[in-house]
Amino acid sequence: MLSGVQSNTGRGPALVQETKHVLQSNAKALKSEVSRYAVYGVFIAFSAIITATLALAYIENGAISLSGVIAVQKSNVALWVLDSMPFVFALWGQYVGSMISYEASALVIDQTNELRAQTTALRKEAAHGVTHDPLTGLPNRTLVMDRINQAITAAHSNKQTLSIILLDLDRFSELNSALSRHQGDQALNQVAGRLRGLARDTDTVGRVGADEFVILVARESSELDTHRIAASITTALKAPFVLDGVKVGIQASMGITLYPTHGIDGDTLLQRAEAAMYAAKRDKTGFAVYSSKHEKNSPHRITLAGELRESLESDVLYLLYQPKMVLKTMQLQGVEALARWPHPVHTQVSPGEFISLAERTGLIRPLTSWVVNQALEQLSLWGKQGFFPSVSINISAQDLNNEDLFDHLTGLLASHGIDPKRIILEITETSIMLNEEHAASMLRRLADTGVRLSIDDFGTGYSSLAHLSELPIHEIKIDRSFVEDMNKNPKHAKIVRAIIDLGHNLELNVTAEGVWTGEIKDILASLGCDAIQGFHVSGPIAAKDVPGWRGKPGADNTGVVNVSKNLSVVRNR
Ligand code: C2E
Ligand code: MG
Ligand code: MG
Repeated sequence: MLSGVQSNTGRGPALVQETKHVLQSNAKALKSEVSRYAVYGVFIAFSAIITATLALAYIENGAISLSGVIAVQKSNVALWVLDSMPFVFALWGQYVGSMISYEASALVIDQTNELRAQTTALRKEAAHGVTHDPLTGLPNRTLVMDRINQAITAAHSNKQTLSIILLDLDRFSELNSALSRHQGDQALNQVAGRLRGLARDTDTVGRVGADEFVILVARESSELDTHRIAASITTALKAPFVLDGVKVGIQASMGITLYPTHGIDGDTLLQRAEAAMYAAKRDKTGFAVYSSKHEKNSPHRITLAGELRESLESDVLYLLYQPKMVLKTMQLQGVEALARWPHPVHTQVSPGEFISLAERTGLIRPLTSWVVNQALEQLSLWGKQGFFPSVSINISAQDLNNEDLFDHLTGLLASHGIDPKRIILEITETSIMLNEEHAASMLRRLADTGVRLSIDDFGTGYSSLAHLSELPIHEIKIDRSFVEDMNKNPKHAKIVRAIIDLGHNLELNVTAEGVWTGEIKDILASLGCDAIQGFHVSGPIAAKDVPGWRGKPGADNTGVVNVSKNLSVVRNR
């Protein structure tokens, strides 16, 4: 579309010239045509005069002579009228020719002006297309960079600061693949609208990548100011997005840089904002202000994706298992399998980062199938040791489209002789909300194989109660963001209480994640929560250490004694 506009516009001035030329030459041709007929008229008139004069001279004198011709010319009134005809024709020819020429000129001027207006409009449209994103109408990367560099020049001469916020939507590729293209576009448009609504007149909001936006705060701003802006963006995105009637929760991670502290040119500021954004995504902090430590954790995405593929193929990844305890008895209820990737350069890449990378690069299917393989093999090994825990396995939204996963899972269950009830598939509430209807039908099919289903990170996805009650689920896991500070945050405590009540009304097992202190554990116990998971009990531990949990929590049911031991197991790995 853009190239079409550009090419039209490039031809615009030439087209005006061309049309003007054609109109002018048409007018000339018309004028000469009129002149030609006027000349014919004059010629016919002269012929008529000569013929009539000679005829009259002959009739009156019986012969044609010069004196006879002069005499009839002097005496005959009809010949006088005839004599005036060539002048009448000549005048008429001149008059009509001038009129046509005048009208044609007016036409040329009108047409030229019209063409000029069209060309200007086309040129403007093309210029807008070159500097703006066609979907959201926001400035694109080119214009954003231009504005950043202009703002830097102004800030430099006024000795002021400015800040840049790079915002990337979390798991947008998942959302995009689960929803229709139109809904994906709607989501981007609505995000753009909310960001624009927050920005001041002097700020620039632009779209610089598929799901990447930049907010240029071109005014004196401290680090604290940027925290406030980032917090207000987070709040603005909190309300669910309605995409063709489907409610979806969208979150984002932001990286922030300040001029001149973090860089003195646009490229550096943007690239460092990206590094900070990846750190925020990995640590799930919502936003991060750039620090040099982000640099080494900001691996090049493409290289990292290739390395992840290689690591998967060469079995470099491994699983840790985090115990989940029955709150009343503090007995081991089961373990959650959590993938780890020991990257050769970046030591450990966090699951938050490599799982979302896998989701974006199509690696999530082989990764999930690798996790399922490992976990079931481990269950079989433990079974041989007389240890039969249940294992929770995290699956992504994209896995719900993977027919092979059913066959893979049922095949492995049969070949290892594992009771399907010992497998709990965890799917996040947000993933279910991405495409409720499809998720519901796939979850039903999965439940038919006998495995149990759990909704992970519950409370973040705005799922509807009616919908939840129709899903064949066994458990909900309260998102750790509500649990971690529930002893200090009364709102979060209320949410946790409401989720526990909701879960019990639907006869579901309710597990709280992120239980990192005894105080939180006690509050959860008073609220009747069924199970807990968190650093207070144990972080994720190596497979070989899990069977030990069978007896030990009985001896010391708080699990506190084991915390440091288990954490050290994780760290030593
Ligand atoms: P999740 O499924 O909600 O897993 C719980 C996460 O909370 C784990 O992080 C765990 O280490 C962490 N955690 C446990 N107790 C505490 C606590 O007391 N406080 C805090 N702050 N955190 C605690 P981890 O291992 O980094 O995994 C992060 C997320 O990555 C997981 O969240 C899950 O969504 C995803 N993930 C991990 N492994 C896999 C996998 O094999 N497949 C898929 N699809 N996702 C995975
Ligand atoms: Mg989980
Ligand atoms: Mg969770």
